[in-house]
Amino acid sequence: MKKTAAPIVLLAILVCAVSCADRAPAKKITDFVYQYSIMDALLAGVYDGNMTFGELKKHGDFGLGGFNTLDGELIMNHNEVYKMRYDGSIHAIPDADRTGIAFVKFFRPDSTFAVHAKGLTYDMLKDSISKRIARNSIYAIRITGKLKAIQARAPHPATKPYPPLAEYLATGGQYNFDFENVSGTLVGFYMPDYMEKTNIPGFHTHFITDDRKQGGHIFDFVTDEPLTVEVDQAEGITIAENTHPDWQKLNLKENRQNELHQVE
Ligand SMILES: [Zn+2]
Repeated sequence: MKKTAAPIVLLAILVCAVSCADRAPAKKITDFVYQYSIMDALLAGVYDGNMTFGELKKHGDFGLGGFNTLDGELIMNHNEVYKMRYDGSIHAIPDADRTGIAFVKFFRPDSTFAVHAKGLTYDMLKDSISKRIARNSIYAIRITGKLKAIQARAPHPATKPYPPLAEYLATGGQYNFDFENVSGTLVGFYMPDYMEKTNIPGFHTHFITDDRKQGGHIFDFVTDEPLTVEVDQAEGITIAENTHPDWQKLNLKENRQNELHQVE
């Protein structure tokens, strides 16, 4: 027995050297979307939160959201966060800044395809993608290419007491932009109907130009150029509750679906 002990110990060390290394990645990658706060809170006027972008980046490298006081639209791609403000300016955001709502995923596309049609609009693109995805699953969707004309928006920062979002945007809080002939990236998500209090059912997309000089929340676009579409199906979603004191003052029983349609 004594003679075989050494080889067994050696074998055990070798097995662990191989498998233990496999089980210890530097960063934990999940196939879930991670979201901080929910859409109904934003609709009710909870615009602030305590989630830092440094913390958010532990849960994804691709995403959408907003900023505290409703100061601009958020776009995250390749682990970089940008703020797109009401005055049309674009700003790289440090990890120490905080958000009141955001949702992110580690983007690992499951399939890639091209969509090309003369006069392709946002609605036509959504129809085309809808045919290739499962209706009751969550998807992160990245679209790249050149767009001929874009209609987008970004909100002006609000002051307390914050009004409900639909009222705020309808009374001067929303600034609209038109861009022409720009190359860039659309960061989008598709959410199924069961997400209606938590997120926005259907497609939701923000855009940023390749030169990082223009962007916003997308209402519509048109293009004659081919677009590359990458889709990443999530296994599900993790919701982190908003940790700001305003969250606990909310009445989440109210049905805010009409307000959601107004703001989208
Ligand atoms: Zn948006």
